[in-house]
Amino acid sequence: MKRPHILIVDDKKDIRLTLEITLRADGYRVSCAASGEIALDMVNKDRPDLVLLDIMMPDLDGYEICRRLKKNEKTRGIKVVFASAMRKTKDKIEGLDIGADDFITKPFNIPELLAKLRVHFRVMDYHRKFEKLVGFAHNINVLDIDTMAQAIKNELGELITADRFSVFTTDKDGGHFRLIAHNHAENEMDGLEMDFDKSPMMAEALRRMEEVSESDFPGSRFAADVKRDKYTDDYALCLPLQAGSELLGVLNINGNSNGFFDNLEFNFVALIAEILSASLKNLRQLELLRHLAITDGLTSLLNHRVFHERLSSEFDRSKRFKQPLSLMMADIDYFKKVNDTYGHPVGDQILKAIAGKLKAHLRTVDVVARYGGEEYAMLLPQTDANLARAVAERIRKDIESESFTTDKGKLKVTVSLGICDTTANNFDSGARLLAKADEALYEAKNGGRNQTVIYNQKDSL
Ligand code: GH3
Ligand code: MG
Ligand code: MG
Repeated sequence: MKRPHILIVDDKKDIRLTLEITLRADGYRVSCAASGEIALDMVNKDRPDLVLLDIMMPDLDGYEICRRLKKNEKTRGIKVVFASAMRKTKDKIEGLDIGADDFITKPFNIPELLAKLRVHFRVMDYHRKFEKLVGFAHNINVLDIDTMAQAIKNELGELITADRFSVFTTDKDGGHFRLIAHNHAENEMDGLEMDFDKSPMMAEALRRMEEVSESDFPGSRFAADVKRDKYTDDYALCLPLQAGSELLGVLNINGNSNGFFDNLEFNFVALIAEILSASLKNLRQLELLRHLAITDGLTSLLNHRVFHERLSSEFDRSKRFKQPLSLMMADIDYFKKVNDTYGHPVGDQILKAIAGKLKAHLRTVDVVARYGGEEYAMLLPQTDANLARAVAERIRKDIESESFTTDKGKLKVTVSLGICDTTANNFDSGARLLAKADEALYEAKNGGRNQTVIYNQKDSL
């Protein structure tokens, strides 16, 4: 918390002066008001963090000032500490009941006054942090990991007293950490990925599913493998991020120059970890749904619906930039026989293996989809039919020569392919391109299967 601001309100000049000198010496920002009216005016202008308020004053008394501060939504959060010579319990109770935070009797015991102020500012600090935490929880509960990471980077540092933090996520299969946000000085850490065993401390937190802390990290067993000169911090706390038994990541807190965490602070950090976990879990769920919505469950290729979307956008792009686009259909020959002879599960194994082969032969810019049962559709941007044919032939020959490993032993299959591109034909839609590629595939089947046919080109292979 930056230097807290205290407003002293007292009609006696010598008291104002003594308090001002004492509080300034203790590191506070201080301003003074000699009457109730002036005090209210200053509160509205300067918004101090705490008002040290005399009760008996000629114009407005302290009780009345306190009432007005607590009634106004804008000033309600300002702490009020009565400083009065009135010693009766009844007076103190009245003051506290109208919303004051404390009551200190005059003449002051200075060390006690300063100690009490420290407590108030500590509590205030927690209040502010909880307020920020609500904003943090809101801002990290987003629909993509990059926005979430940015919010963590911007806001987490203000929520913790420790010098540094880092947040890693784990991949679904485990074994790997990815750094998504940190406030360490080294920029080269951005996007860092590493195996579990590279950080014994993080690995242990995940294995035990509970926090691991070290007050002397460089001297601990966790630092054995890491470059010691890089880790001069004493303190290291590592909290697992998890949802039930699912591991999501870790939150690291390092170098607490304010000393070891007290219980309250630790619980606060644990709450941050819970909030991070909940948001990460939501994101993971969302990513899974997004993945399921666009892929085919068996082969993990894009599904029929997404293929049509991509066809439309790639077709438009090819028109706009006057670049060729090829569409390739592939269909397994006599696949019904495979199912009938060896059973559906074996057929599934072959469908998957062929999907893998198609992917391996195509570029990342190409689109590979499972179009139907044993039919695949592919889009090859910036590729004319002749180039596509070369790719198709590589695929066809690769499949022809492969013996696919299945539960019923090694099996051989072949595929037929049909290709159409946008160069030779002036199509007005992706749907036309698709229909013509399908015609070419039909021709390949009629021509005896295990071959590639290009639409409108007689010298097909
Ligand atoms: P052609 O050479 O003319 O393409 O003959 P084909 O037997 O491959 O073609 P047809 O269209 O007659 O049969 C396709 C078969 O593909 C029928 C169906 O049982 C099978 N099939 C479709 N989807 C799946 C699937 O998800 N898994 C398995 N195992 N088989 C499937
Ligand atoms: Mg078939
Ligand atoms: Mg078919």
